[in-house]
Order: sequence, then C-alpha cells, then structure tokens
Amino acid sequence: MRKTWLLGMMAGAAIWAQAPQNAHNDAAKKLAGAKWASAYNFFCVAPKANAATDPPIQPTKVFDNFYAIGDSGTTAYALVTSQGIILIDSLPANQTETVLLPGLKAIGLDPANVKYVIVTHGHGDHSGGSFTFQERWGAHVALSSVDWDGMNPAAGKGKAAANNPRRDVELKDGDTVKLGDVTVTAVLTPGHTPGSLGLIFPVKDGNTTHMAGMFGGTILLPGRPDVPTLQTYLASIAHFKEATTKAKVDVEIQNHPLMDDAARLTSARDHKAGTPHPWVVNDYSTYLDVMAECLHAQRPELP
Ligand SMILES: [Zn+2]
Repeated sequence: MRKTWLLGMMAGAAIWAQAPQNAHNDAAKKLAGAKWASAYNFFCVAPKANAATDPPIQPTKVFDNFYAIGDSGTTAYALVTSQGIILIDSLPANQTETVLLPGLKAIGLDPANVKYVIVTHGHGDHSGGSFTFQERWGAHVALSSVDWDGMNPAAGKGKAAANNPRRDVELKDGDTVKLGDVTVTAVLTPGHTPGSLGLIFPVKDGNTTHMAGMFGGTILLPGRPDVPTLQTYLASIAHFKEATTKAKVDVEIQNHPLMDDAARLTSARDHKAGTPHPWVVNDYSTYLDVMAECLHAQRPELP
C-alpha cells in the first residue's frame, strides 16, 4: 500500500475538483466557514498531492523561534531552543544540499547546531535529510518505533533505503523530546503510516508563547486506503483533537502547506511585532473536524 501512496503522491494533480454532495460535505463547509475555507477546499473539494515541481518558498521566520524551509508542497521547520535547534522533518534527501542546508543558512541558523531531527513519519519526503544531520553533525533522529520498523525493516523483510538514518530515538504516544527551554510532545496518530506522529510544541511571538499543533501524517488522497485504515485514521484525528485541546493548542502547522494555505507564509513574513499573529487561532480543533468530516463526505461507507 505504501508503494501505491508514493506513486499517488508523485502524480501531483488534483484528484477531483468537485465536492461530494452529501450531508458530511455540507457539515464540513459549515464548520470551516471563511476561516478554514482553504482547508475545506483541500480536504473536501480538490485534494492535491505534493510534487517535485512545487514552487520553492522563501525561507521564512514564522514565529520568533520557528522557521519554515522547503517548497509550497512540503516544508521542514527549525524550532530554535536555548540549547540548539530541533528540526521537524527534513525534506527529501535530494534537497539537503540544494534547499535545506542553504535555507537554514539563509535565515542565520547553523546546521551544526541541529541537535534533534524529529521525523513525523517515515516517508522519504520528510525523513530524507535526517541522515546528513546524523552523520555529519551527530544529531539525534527521532521517529515512532513503528515507523523506524517501516524505514529499516528486519532482516529478510525488505531493504532500507541507502540514505535512511541509523535507528536512534524511538518515540511512543505521549513521549517528549526536550532540548533547552523547549519540550515537544509526540502523539501517535497512525493512518497515513502505521507510526505517524502529531507534534505539540511552543512557539514564541514577542513575549507571548503559543502552543502549536502539527498533524504530521495526513492522508493526501482519501480515495485510496481501505476502510479499516481510514477508521484508524479517524481515531487518530480524534486522539490528536483530545491532546491538542488539553494542551491549549492555538496555532495550526502543516508539513504540507498546500493542505492549509501556502499564502499564510507571506502573512507570517509580513507580521509586525505587537500585532496579533496571523497564525494564531482560537479554534484549532475545527481544522481537525473539517479533515474528519471531509473524509466521511468522500467515503460515506465509513461508519
Ligand atoms: Zn507521507
């Protein structure tokens, strides 16, 4: 199935461009309103896979301690702490030298200061660059145990890719990665892969600290997986909703910006200190509800 996914992701084209006409779609549209309209459009109307041809983004300071690097399809983030950098995802391996390392340097960050790379799930467009940080600068690479298994299969059960990182930090549901003044909490959200992770972490805007939620393994093409996988995925969305509500998450982050609104990067870049930050919301859980309703809309056979 994973192979099918990767093929699907490379297609790069909208899968359909018309919302299904049913009560779940109506509910999703109503929930989304104007605020989450781009998420509704992505999940219900015109899902699109990330592709190698997605236009690059300018490396962007999103919050005072949080930077985006990559392209409009897929991004990695640098979370700066008092004792070094936590990289969240690491782009495909073939973008390490051309996008990721130059991007870090462009925003004034030294790749040698990356102490951890947290990989939200074990697909190459998120894990590819992590090997370099492990090999060259001794950074720790953290993944869920389950996705380590998927990336580095046991003897006789498939072959690990040449640029996969060596097995290192294994994260389980509720585990944390701590570096300096920052703690990142991992929430197991299987579905897109068996060990996908949602992450919760603090971001700073002036003197204010907000909590960010990043649903790290999003199903791109809801028409594909079987019903049991989608049920697991729906349970993961509910689990992440519970965890993010408890943590008072008020910032929505995606590793595929085309799933929320790539134009938000411009709004973050233009943000002036002392004014409300454009990425702060008071209803993060609505984003997750829209995802779930759109899945039901597209697959009415789901219980
Ligand atoms: Zn993936």
